[in-house]
Amino acid sequence: MKITKIEAFRLFPRNVQAISTDAISKGDSAITPVVCRIHTDTGLYGDGEAAMAFNCGAVTVMNMIAELSRKIIGMDPLENEVIWEKLMKNAFWTQNGGAVTTAAVSAIDNACWDIRGKYFKVPVYVLLGGKRRSVLRSYASQLQFGWGEFRGNALTPDEFARNAKAAIAEGYDCVKVNFFTHDEDGNNFSEDDRTGTLTPAFLNKIEARVKAVRDAVGPDVEIMAENHAMTDPQSVVQFAGRIEKYGISFMEEACYPDPAVTKYIADHISIPLAGGERVYTRFGFEPYFKDGSLRLIQPDVGNSGGITEVKKICDAAYTHGVSVQIHTAGSPIETFAALQIEAVIPNFTIHENLVWSIYDEYQELAKNPIEIRNGTVRIPDGIGLGNELSEYALSHCEFITVN
Ligand code: MG
Repeated sequence: MKITKIEAFRLFPRNVQAISTDAISKGDSAITPVVCRIHTDTGLYGDGEAAMAFNCGAVTVMNMIAELSRKIIGMDPLENEVIWEKLMKNAFWTQNGGAVTTAAVSAIDNACWDIRGKYFKVPVYVLLGGKRRSVLRSYASQLQFGWGEFRGNALTPDEFARNAKAAIAEGYDCVKVNFFTHDEDGNNFSEDDRTGTLTPAFLNKIEARVKAVRDAVGPDVEIMAENHAMTDPQSVVQFAGRIEKYGISFMEEACYPDPAVTKYIADHISIPLAGGERVYTRFGFEPYFKDGSLRLIQPDVGNSGGITEVKKICDAAYTHGVSVQIHTAGSPIETFAALQIEAVIPNFTIHENLVWSIYDEYQELAKNPIEIRNGTVRIPDGIGLGNELSEYALSHCEFITVN
């Protein structure tokens, strides 16, 4: 089997107007997932996503996929390891990883896995070693941006509590919240607000939000704190000291993704640390495994090297007693790739349902929606990744073709 053609798509969901490259260069952004489709001489094709849907990078990674695609036309997509090594070692800038390059490799790799599954007529989880679980416990993620019918930034403690209750009403028993994206007037907190020495007024304001969520969900619901690397070692020690009494199970991205700084924080707060969505390949995760600072890793199957690499990262984590949640922030194409790994690995902890990515306008980008029931997600049993781009997605996109 030979790769004959690769298309890189940037998708425009229903709620997003197509934003031109020129507009993006002037500072506009939108959530536009990037997916590639690899075609073969057998007629089989596979889809794989690069996890750069939001903020910036979508246009760039679409072009990077096209550039890397030229190196693998004519290769056998079943030889995923050969392709991975070629892309990571012989494309010069891919060595040592990085968001754009590794995300592009991930998209290609995931599409190859989709083809593998279709070729052998089995779900990818069979090829990864077998399904250990059919239903995954999941959490409602990023409640500061709303939940369900409530869309928009939560600003008051009551709005944080309302969003958490909306998730619990759907059956979730775990929520994740960033408590300091916006102030009560809807303005972004500044870098100075969130780093260094925190003022008592700021700490009181943030603690009130955490308390409101804990009071709303009761003692039997898990709360994870998401810091999005907005805090630094000084501020996070103060913040953690204030909120640990509310039973926070993990603090995610407590600082800039640096192993030494992460280790310092792990040594100075009692809340276990999670992270990894901005760490790339086995080589990037290795120092965190060695020093034990991250207890829950969140590699992104769309930006940390694809299924080929992320399965190895998960296995390395297992040898260090570290648990895994695959990070997802894209279309269902990426989520279905994540589910293939989460179905298989022994150190899986919980699946993430990111607030916007499960809205209808993102679900309709793929033929099959993510099946969520009572806060759990069902593992898809279709062959390959079990999903592909929808007609809607293919008719609302821009794309580059390489053949
Ligand atoms: Mg995160």
